[in-house]
Amino acid sequence: MKRKGAASGREKGAAKPFWLSKAIMAMTRVEWESLCARCGRCCVLKYEDPKTLKILYTKWACRYLDLETCRCACYRNRKTKMPECIDLYQCSVKVRAWLPPSCAYRLVAKGHDLPSWHPLKTGDPDSAKKAGMSVLGHVIPEPGEEPVTKKRV
Ligand code: SF4
Ligand code: SF4
Repeated sequence: MKRKGAASGREKGAAKPFWLSKAIMAMTRVEWESLCARCGRCCVLKYEDPKTLKILYTKWACRYLDLETCRCACYRNRKTKMPECIDLYQCSVKVRAWLPPSCAYRLVAKGHDLPSWHPLKTGDPDSAKKAGMSVLGHVIPEPGEEPVTKKRV
């Protein structure tokens, strides 16, 4: 993912950073990708409580989540490796509701600003981890699967 110039996120002459001034469909692919804070929360297995309809997190992460970097180990090929993996660019509002409230894709879709710890604000690609906002140390590989964390596939 491109991070160059990420600390301000502003185009020359623009009063607001792109995530507050552009509609999602008007963002470049690079801008869109840079919204991801690399927290890894979307890659944790979840389920919906049938009674309360609340989204509940398990302690298991997708086998392709690198548990050290909190990044997908097969990002370019993820749809082939993990067909259930959802493309957030095309997902519905209902699916987006399964993302954590801190996820930039949820916040931006509602016209909200990014949190202060977000890499686009700090200029540090690891700032979600440093702020304790990632899944680092909180999840284990999903049961019955060998984790794929040592190399990108
Ligand atoms: S929850 Fe959102 S910000 Fe975090 S890794 Fe997933 S897409 Fe990126
Ligand atoms: S394939 Fe990659 S992006 Fe998709 S859920 Fe698994 S770790 Fe996350």
